[in-house]
Amino acid sequence: MITEPRAQITDHFNAWEFRCRCNRCTGFKIARMLVVLLEAMRAGIGRLIPGAVFVVNSGYRCPDHNAAQGGAPRSLHLAGQAADISTPSKMDRAHFHRFAYSYWYLSKRGGLGLYDWGVHLDLGPVRLWDRRSVKAPLA
Ligand SMILES: [Zn+2]
Ligand SMILES: [Zn+2]
Repeated sequence: MITEPRAQITDHFNAWEFRCRCNRCTGFKIARMLVVLLEAMRAGIGRLIPGAVFVVNSGYRCPDHNAAQGGAPRSLHLAGQAADISTPSKMDRAHFHRFAYSYWYLSKRGGLGLYDWGVHLDLGPVRLWDRRSVKAPLA
């Protein structure tokens, strides 16, 4: 578990990207295994489409922030075991969903939730849910 919020933790990630967005709390944690998966994805997305990137919209959440965001009471974000990511440019949404799905599928690990805004990844039981308004094919 990574608890230092400003550490460079992989080639492409600083822990700061996973900070709680409430900007008030002081605790921090993010699971290394989650970052390892995201590191592979961040290295991979630029190979797929030069210049394509994704951002972490939400990583660790303290209980107050999780509640304010309408997160589930036992959300894996509270445990530093989930991240919401989205792509701001270069790659269209359906392509980003296929991209995330392919990494999730190959990792055989955790949960993947598909949303119009992007994807949620976590280290919980293996499961897939699709809350997109348009269910474009994933493979
Ligand atoms: Zn917080
Ligand atoms: Zn999430």
